Amino acid sequence: MIALYHIIAQKSRILSRMKGKIIDKKEIATGTLQVTFAAAEPFTFKAGQYVFVTLINPPYFDERSSKRHFSIVNSPDEKGIITIATRLRDSGFKKSLKELPVGAEVELGSISGSFVLPDDTAKPLVFIAGGIGITPYMSMLKYAAENKLPYRITLVYSNRDSSSSAYLQELANFKAQMSNFKLILTMTEDPDWSGEKRKIDAGFIKEYFPDLNENLYFVVGPPPMVEAVQKALLEAGVDIENISIENFTGY
Ligand SMILES: Cc1cc2nc3c(=O)[nH]c(=O)nc-3n(C[C@H](O)[C@H](O)[C@H](O)COP(=O)(O)OP(=O)(O)OC[C@H]3O[C@@H](n4cnc5c(N)ncnc54)[C@H](O)[C@@H]3O)c2cc1C
Repeated sequence: MIALYHIIAQKSRILSRMKGKIIDKKEIATGTLQVTFAAAEPFTFKAGQYVFVTLINPPYFDERSSKRHFSIVNSPDEKGIITIATRLRDSGFKKSLKELPVGAEVELGSISGSFVLPDDTAKPLVFIAGGIGITPYMSMLKYAAENKLPYRITLVYSNRDSSSSAYLQELANFKAQMSNFKLILTMTEDPDWSGEKRKIDAGFIKEYFPDLNENLYFVVGPPPMVEAVQKALLEAGVDIENISIENFTGY
């Protein structure tokens, strides 16, 4: 199954490269920046895919280049723009992205990836996000809501605390709007949070998803989180065929 994904990834290269421009920037949670680019040419993508962003004449040098890949946050139906969200860090790339003004030119593309909604809408989907790993799910949820797609989706969103959790209000809006969408928030280091506080382990999975292999599981986040959650799913008894992962290398 995972091998198949790589084959599809090669085939779904939709956009080579083109110019773009920063049209909006805002801090959407503590240490988390959202940036929207306007694309110079029309393009298409599938919800869940990622894009390479290359900064042009960045103010800071980065030995790892001025290019990074980011999952696209907006829905494919929002034409002509690409929105990303990222944790601010000390890398030359991130310092430059924070400093570049609205109007600054960038290079966008290519767009790729096989971490997308399954064609089969029958099986319930369990989206598991660790921190900034929420980004591809925002695109999928917007797309599913806009097109009234019959997916039954449960999102498990794990963060340290609510102040650094991006898109809480948007997710609450989806919950109000979509009867087939459930939201489980867990804050693992937030003394003011009265809700779920546990990390996602096998016990957590078995408790929230008693019909274990009735679901398809998707896991996104920093590699250590993805590895730990994948291990927890397997320990709980989930078949590997029912698990898809997207590792945000670099965290
Ligand atoms: C498919 C995909 C989607 C992504 N989507 C997002 C997103 O939506 N939002 C977001 O914030 N980030 C996303 N990322 C991660 C992003 O590309 C950056 O790697 C990350 O944001 C860290 O960048 P940085 O400049 O802060 O750190 P960097 O300076 O780039 O990296 C920090 C440290 O990680 C190490 N490192 C970086 N990349 C790798 C690698 N590939 N393998 C091993 N070590 C590495 C570096 O050596 C460095 O020590 C995604 C990554 C992938 C693969």
